Amino acid sequence: MANKEKIVVVGSGQMGLGIAHAFVVNGFEVVIVDVQQAALQKAEAAINEIVSQGIARGKLDAGVAALVTKNLTSSTDLAKAVKGADLVVETATEQLAVKHEIIATVDKIVAPDTVIATNTSALSITEIATASSRPERVIGMHFFNPVHKMKLVEIIRGLSTNDKTVELIQDWSERIKKTSILVNEAPGFATSRISALLGNEAMWMLSEGVASAEDIDTSLRLAFNHPMGPLELGDLTGWDTRLSVLKYLHSTLGEKFRPCPLITKMVKSGRTGRKVGHGVYKYEEGKKLPNTGLKVW
Ligand code: NAD
Repeated sequence: MANKEKIVVVGSGQMGLGIAHAFVVNGFEVVIVDVQQAALQKAEAAINEIVSQGIARGKLDAGVAALVTKNLTSSTDLAKAVKGADLVVETATEQLAVKHEIIATVDKIVAPDTVIATNTSALSITEIATASSRPERVIGMHFFNPVHKMKLVEIIRGLSTNDKTVELIQDWSERIKKTSILVNEAPGFATSRISALLGNEAMWMLSEGVASAEDIDTSLRLAFNHPMGPLELGDLTGWDTRLSVLKYLHSTLGEKFRPCPLITKMVKSGRTGRKVGHGVYKYEEGKKLPNTGLKVW
């Protein structure tokens, strides 16, 4: 099937740019929306860079660069951007109030059959959907970071999500060459629940002085074949997002998800991870610097 649908991605941070990239390189018309013009410029530059690297490595056809120029646009005007959208993917900051405001705005403009998906890492799809007048068309479409490398889309069905919406998202996932799994709504779904627990435990271990950050990460990579250690992964995800997820899981699933105070400290100090060049480790031009792991004891 030709990919003629219009996709609007709301939030152009590290996830938004990856999701926009996934749709645009597969021939869809994509609009990215953000409240910050600077974030949109950064996202467009990053998408073009991923495409250039893909072409240079022979993974993408040279014609894809022209496709991106033709089919990717950006806007700070959400109400205008979502007109005529077939699919809206909300991927703004991980806060319920932010997501509600976006969905309420989108809901007033789009056609009744437009699908509204959210890339929330852990929040309730059912609760997010209360901002919409047709919760049956609201669904979780959870991508992984970095989107252009990670193959999974976790589809989360809210209490009211209908079968048609699930089928549409399964089809869109396939057409952007991802493998999808279907999960019934539960806090943290199938992925974030485990990943948050692992990252939190690694931070407790670091605070207790069990081992250095480098050695904790090396243990998971070499003993269990994880491609990345849990502290490196937290730096990639962003400790601000991690903290929001842990607070939510703590409130819904209980004590084992209580956020490690070291994460709160890091977020308060602005060391949110790779996206700001400093988290557990330091980064320069996106590359991790050796021997920069956080020492707290
Ligand atoms: P980010 O901080 O990199 O980007 C968030 C963007 O949302 C920012 O550019 C911000 O300006 C924008 N934004 C805030 N309010 C907005 C609004 N009202 N309208 C439009 N844009 C708005 O965050 P991220 O890591 O890209 O995460 C985005 C979402 O994806 C969150 O829900 C997060 O939980 C989820 N997620 C993150 C990861 C990850 O590894 N970081 C993985 C899966 C899902």
